[in-house]
Amino acid sequence: MPAEKARALVLRTTDWSESSRIATMWTREFGRVRVLAKGGRRLKSAFENALDLLTLCDIVLLRKSSGSLDLLTEARVVRRFQRLRDDLSALYSAYYVAELLADWTEDYDPHPRVFDEAVQTLTALGAPGVAVWPRLARFELVLLRELGHGPALDVCAVCATPVNQAGLAFSASAGGVVCPSCQPRQRDRRPLSPACWHALRNLAESNEATRQLDPAVHSELRQLLGQYITYLMGRKPRLLPYLGS
Ligand SMILES: [Zn+2]
Repeated sequence: MPAEKARALVLRTTDWSESSRIATMWTREFGRVRVLAKGGRRLKSAFENALDLLTLCDIVLLRKSSGSLDLLTEARVVRRFQRLRDDLSALYSAYYVAELLADWTEDYDPHPRVFDEAVQTLTALGAPGVAVWPRLARFELVLLRELGHGPALDVCAVCATPVNQAGLAFSASAGGVVCPSCQPRQRDRRPLSPACWHALRNLAESNEATRQLDPAVHSELRQLLGQYITYLMGRKPRLLPYLGS
């Protein structure tokens, strides 16, 4: 039973017994882990308040054989994202990030790039001068790419012809933009405005996701990403209705 150290984000906790809790965490080293924190419900436990939702902490866990929960032996707070409490759209966005990580990734499937982007997103959300929605869309695009679902934006997702901004549509089932000649066969297609196409490409390529989007572009982008992620997950994320569109 090797002891492993990891840096972790607390995504979800459930009371387990009178004194213990089960926590779902996302670690930089191992991806998602589910751990049993014995004594985690006691006021003065070894974990102090490190198991609060959306806390970044350093942990030590004992990996168990498959089928049983790993055991959390240490957790120390590295950072709390206090600013989330002051801005409801930032808080809902953070819960949405946690939901996607908790429900859409596998145990022990690490993606350090996703972990870093999640921490950067939680740090940025609610900060002065940071626009919440572009920052969240940037996280979604990084997550999609890392999970192998990055949408095709420069070529048609069906025929691979390079596209320009005229007459484009987006299809979740095709996995990206669809050129005019391929559109009739994509029944789930939605029109894609040139402005939204540009916004998607900018957010996918750069991490300068702080500029506010035009409200119409934001609305289109939110609906497009929501529809795509719902299609891929096979259900609508619970937090999606709270993200505004
Ligand atoms: Zn095409």
